[in-house]
Amino acid sequence: MFKRIQTLLTQKETHKKVTIRGWIRTRRDTGSFSFLEVNDGSCLANLQVIADKDLPNYEEDVSKLSAGCSVVVAGTLQESPAKGQDVELQAESVEVVGWADPESYPLQKKRHSLEFLRSISHLRPRTNALGAVTRVRSRLSFAVHSFFQKRDFAQVHTPIITTSDCEGAGEVFQIRASGETKEKPFFGQQAGLTVSGQLQAEVYALSLGQVYTFGPTFRAENSNTSRHLAEFWMVEPEMAFCDLDCNIELATDLLKFVLQDVLANCVEDLALFDTFVEKGLVKKLQDVVNKEFVHITYTEAVDQLSMLKGTFEYPVEWGVDLQSEHERYLSEILYKCPVIVTDYPASIKPFYMRLNDDEKTVAAMDILVPGIGEIVGGSQREERLDVLTRRMNEAGIDLEEYGWYLDLRRYGTVPHAGFGLGFERLVQFTTGMKNIREVIPFPRTPGFAPC
Ligand code: ATP
Ligand code: MG
Ligand code: MG
Ligand code: MG
Repeated sequence: MFKRIQTLLTQKETHKKVTIRGWIRTRRDTGSFSFLEVNDGSCLANLQVIADKDLPNYEEDVSKLSAGCSVVVAGTLQESPAKGQDVELQAESVEVVGWADPESYPLQKKRHSLEFLRSISHLRPRTNALGAVTRVRSRLSFAVHSFFQKRDFAQVHTPIITTSDCEGAGEVFQIRASGETKEKPFFGQQAGLTVSGQLQAEVYALSLGQVYTFGPTFRAENSNTSRHLAEFWMVEPEMAFCDLDCNIELATDLLKFVLQDVLANCVEDLALFDTFVEKGLVKKLQDVVNKEFVHITYTEAVDQLSMLKGTFEYPVEWGVDLQSEHERYLSEILYKCPVIVTDYPASIKPFYMRLNDDEKTVAAMDILVPGIGEIVGGSQREERLDVLTRRMNEAGIDLEEYGWYLDLRRYGTVPHAGFGLGFERLVQFTTGMKNIREVIPFPRTPGFAPC
């Protein structure tokens, strides 16, 4: 019966006849048989196969196997005398499905640099590190959906093609239908790829109460940082009858829930990162789950950071956004835990964030984590029609174009709030990977590799 290696290694049912399918990692020959290490991607571990020299196709096939070849092996699972593994497979047949030329196969038995692996994004998931990242990413995605579904949030598929640049940061990729003109590129109108599903999620929050969107977003970031991609995935919940505190509580609960889930379900993969990528990673994640986050205001953050003259490349000044170096300092060095920063200056935040009574700050919140800085950005939304229109006019936004958004404040407005969690930054934090390019299957950055 066909089985995944992870199942075999967990159940350890010796004397059973099983079939596995996977790719050779190594072959080692001894006097009367060969050891084949086979990996099928189900887990980090390989299953050791014993292939005796009296197998009918030993000379022709088995003796020529090398890293990267694909095989189907049938045999009996037995206890293994070798250290570090409980079971091994005594082969009764080894079928070679696809050969891999050992001269040209890029993944040799050595540790390849992550930079090199980026240049072969079609083969890198066959490595331990990238296989593990992919499994952890998948589990985190599942945990995100579980979290919201358990809390009775409806998932809304917000559009990819939009006309609104909701962040106002000028990072939209314009799209062009073939044959259309440069001026009116999308069947006679301007359109671009979404930079955030938030505004459309607000529509559904103000009818279904609590919703979330989890999809790809696009930003023309022509920057070369370790935390920005041009195409990334964002988790964006939006809740009616919710203020900034309730928003912070949800974001905190979400982070703790998904990390607890991977700690329980990705034990081996996290242990690999703890050993090879970030020492103490598992303890860091456990602390996030178990300890309170620090909560400070933007003004307090600026006060604390501006005392550290000479520490930073960029100036710290009230009214200027925090840079990644400031965010990292707060979470990595000053507090050594996630830090929630609230009440940013209105002048540096988009029009939709709710103006505080001081008229200078908005009910915004960012969550900063060690090693990355901002992982979550959110706010209570401006639900008052008069204040919102004033803010939009000040920002030079066309009120007519946003008539639908204003309607939400005209007809049954309610306080509401939401946030965006950068999914790749979450995977980065969870795996300890320093560069965001390692945590998405096919990273899109300026000059990305084909595929
Ligand atoms: P940053 O300050 O790092 O540029 P931002 O403030 O522009 O981020 P938001 O508009 O608040 O980002 O988006 C919400 C979340 O989406 C961020 O907290 C971050 O986790 C993630 N994010 C934003 N831009 C990117 C990007 N280019 N690549 C990957 N994740 C991103
Ligand atoms: Mg940005
Ligand atoms: Mg930011
Ligand atoms: Mg932000």
